Amino acid sequence: MKRVYLDNAATTRLIPEVLNEMLPYMTDIYGNPSSPHYFGQQSAMAVDRARQQVASAINADPSEIIFMSGGSEADNTAIRGIAERYSKKGKHIITTAVEHHAVLHTCQLLEKQGYEVTYLPVDEYGMVTAEQVRDAMRDDTILVTIMFANNEVGTIMPIAEIGKLCRERKVFFHTDAVQAVGHLPIDVQAMNIDMLSMSAHKFHGPKGIGALYVRKGIIVPALIVGGAQERNRRAGTENVPGIVGMGKAIELACSDLEAKANKMMVLRDKLIREIPLRIPEVKLNGHPTSRLPNNVNYSIKYIEGESILLMLDLNGIAASSGSACTSGSLDPSHVLLAMGLTHEVAHGSVRMTLCDDTTEEDIDYVLEVLPKVAAKLRDMSPLYHA
Ligand SMILES: *Cc1c(COP(=O)(O)O)cnc(C)c1O
Repeated sequence: MKRVYLDNAATTRLIPEVLNEMLPYMTDIYGNPSSPHYFGQQSAMAVDRARQQVASAINADPSEIIFMSGGSEADNTAIRGIAERYSKKGKHIITTAVEHHAVLHTCQLLEKQGYEVTYLPVDEYGMVTAEQVRDAMRDDTILVTIMFANNEVGTIMPIAEIGKLCRERKVFFHTDAVQAVGHLPIDVQAMNIDMLSMSAHKFHGPKGIGALYVRKGIIVPALIVGGAQERNRRAGTENVPGIVGMGKAIELACSDLEAKANKMMVLRDKLIREIPLRIPEVKLNGHPTSRLPNNVNYSIKYIEGESILLMLDLNGIAASSGSACTSGSLDPSHVLLAMGLTHEVAHGSVRMTLCDDTTEEDIDYVLEVLPKVAAKLRDMSPLYHA
């Protein structure tokens, strides 16, 4: 059976060039980077090289990169760290209603500890504005945390504008850029970003490794304490193969970034254009233009997203409803609800996320299968006939 993987926002394929870089660090080069002997120093050099690769992908200095287990840990470290360290200055945090749960649940935890959090509402496209952030700022605001691009609907937030505002107001600015790294050009200097979370498995690197960028001069206490690794900012023996893989993956993703994005956008736009021509009563979720190059998200009215996904899967197509973390629960996506969708329409959402080896053939196959699946399910749907 033909298999088409369109769930790259959940995770991506580890590419062979990346695996090849990693393999020696799983076999011959096994020293602990903290050990001063030859074995250890081979590993330490590899970690340094990867740190350089990650830093240069976002225009940071290598000393500003802290390796850790992934995007969730980076979000936790940034938000909880700033809250703890700067609580004397204030206890107010600004975020949005559409963040990943790694940010939302961290903020909710802080609320229980006496912090106040403003969850900015979004417009129908899932967008917040810098004006909203400005209006929410108070004298006791210590942190603004707003995602670079949304994992469910692909909407790209006005990060440079928000960064400029935060810098002027001297409020720390963190962004969860897990979906943006490797897809969009990022410059932490030009965009005035103080902290940025990333995760290798979202850009064809290995799972279980990510990094937090922290601008020089900002102190983010470690979430995991113990040894002095990562200059006391994250304890635990380094995941050397993972770090090496992340370095290679980010270098590959960011070389030719524009050409790869353009290629994906052509296919993305074909899906966006053709789906409403082949299926009546659908709604595009997310921003029409300020959108990740690989994201398509449609609500197919009167049917359940879960049943669409099941039938797509039976036809070899892997897609998702909302985010992978929430499917399995029957609650509709908090992102779609925040955008003003009704429960019914939110339940009918299907997310398809491409990567740079998605082909036009793959897209044509989806355009052949999806309308049939939708028609069949609507045939059985009392909602549709009503
Ligand atoms: C995947 C994802 C995360 C979590 O990253 P992990 O490395 O899987 O912990 C956080 N934020 C966003 C926006 C994501 O898409």
